[in-house]
Amino acid sequence: MGREGWGRAGGGQVWPYWLLVSSLGTMTATSEAPSTPTTEFASLDPATGAEIARFPVNTAAEVRQAVERARPAARWWASLDPKQRRARLHAWRHRLVERTDELSRLIARENGKPVDDAVLEVTIAIAHLSWAADHAHRILGRRRVSPGLLAVNHAATCEYLPFGVVGVIGPWNYPVHTPLGSISYALAAGNAVVFKPSEYTPAIGQWLVHSFAEVVPEQPVFQLLTGFADTGNALCTASVDKLAFTGSAATGRKVMAACATNLTPCVVECGGKDALIVAADADLDLAADQAVWGGMFNAGQTCAGVERVYVEAPVYEQFLTKLTAQARRLQAGRDYGPITMPGQLAIIDRHLTDALAQGGRALLGGPESIREPFVDPVLLVDVPADAAASTEETFGPTLTVTKVASVAEAVVRANDSGYGLGASVFSRRQGHQIAEQLEVGMVSINSVLTYASIPGLPWGGSRESGFGRIHGPDGLKEFARSRAITGQRFPIPLRLSTFHPSKNAVGQLKQLARLRWGRG
Ligand code: NAD
Repeated sequence: MGREGWGRAGGGQVWPYWLLVSSLGTMTATSEAPSTPTTEFASLDPATGAEIARFPVNTAAEVRQAVERARPAARWWASLDPKQRRARLHAWRHRLVERTDELSRLIARENGKPVDDAVLEVTIAIAHLSWAADHAHRILGRRRVSPGLLAVNHAATCEYLPFGVVGVIGPWNYPVHTPLGSISYALAAGNAVVFKPSEYTPAIGQWLVHSFAEVVPEQPVFQLLTGFADTGNALCTASVDKLAFTGSAATGRKVMAACATNLTPCVVECGGKDALIVAADADLDLAADQAVWGGMFNAGQTCAGVERVYVEAPVYEQFLTKLTAQARRLQAGRDYGPITMPGQLAIIDRHLTDALAQGGRALLGGPESIREPFVDPVLLVDVPADAAASTEETFGPTLTVTKVASVAEAVVRANDSGYGLGASVFSRRQGHQIAEQLEVGMVSINSVLTYASIPGLPWGGSRESGFGRIHGPDGLKEFARSRAITGQRFPIPLRLSTFHPSKNAVGQLKQLARLRWGRG
């Protein structure tokens, strides 16, 4: 996501909005007080600009110290019996349930979304934590593998071991659900985690780390770092054993380059430009309701939110009427919150202005819908396929709606994107058939974003949306390395892997291969 129009501070870093001061006595992110004055920044309420708290801009040295502290903690956490680890994670889960209101109020304050939306976010995060805790051992624990014909006298096993220390860098738009999508699975897989939340949501990150420390007080298994790009970059180069990044594709590239320094493996979850397809046989009331919610909840600041809608011609006008009626009822500041990053307002404005200049029409709202820090709903039609509003992530409560001649055209248009995160399909009879043609990581049929709330499903995209998977069994394995072991159970006469092979060993091998794989 671009950051045009923001003020620039030292080191070329873009610091809009934040109060930067030098002082002692800051809320420290790590357990050791820094020995020199620390630059700090303030977290602000995006709706009012009121200061919430101050946090240190952790230096590269502090990042390295945190990673070093995490190493023995990781060994201790990994050495726990899986049942003990599971019990600790469920204790944390319990605490999150008990304190959902408190956490949701903090999310509402620091991120700007309504408290009820925050409750939904926290609840989905809890479902994932619970699932990861319950399934980690079954999915990652040692299991027997058939040795096959060539090693029939061996017993083979495979298990998945924790990497050690996992660095997690998070965004601000879902400040609990998104980072916990990596953190819960990394912890369940037996890793320690060093977490740098977005500079827009450090207080929420700190809340999570403190609540975990209440149930795991023995070791710093889950630590917090706060700061901007430089702190994130330092985490990428601090020799963590794996780095999980969620944010924009532009930053994802920088994260990959930084991780390459030490050949640190990384999972990169980036943005999207998700499409919603309305087939002629769709329930149009449902499709309109879900398009509006999927495009506008959280003020449209959802990586897998709906940004583009493709509607089959026979139901286009009818759908537009229903969509407009639904969107017209919404009001920014009442039904959803402000734009969290002030710089995003300029991007939304650019997309709207450009779309209208290129022949697009606003059915509802337009550039005048931007009332800093809020943006009222905007519906655009007739927007060219190559306009920024059709190709770039807008991250605002806006939808482009396009008439298509057929479902086949809708699929081609939906796939014609640099991104490949998620999609949704509305159809009574062809839902699966359409879903299977979409080049994305996740599809919801007759709903939007439902896959996010199903912990057993993997989450992630392709192309500019990144690579690697969080959530589900894939998400657990993303934070573990496989170890394969074979053990000879008894000797067999056919000896091949030796400089003293049995007589006619190669001939017998060829005969075996013919018998086993040579037919058909
Ligand atoms: P961002 O890329 O600006 O920042 C993300 C994080 O990276 C922040 O913590 C930031 O401080 C850090 N960072 C910035 N520069 C860095 C650098 N050079 N090295 C290391 N870390 C650095 O993104 P954002 O504005 O916080 O989040 C919004 C973006 O995240 C959108 O594109 C959205 O689609 C995407 N997102 C994706 C998912 C997903 O699961 N795919 C989920 C939520 C958000």
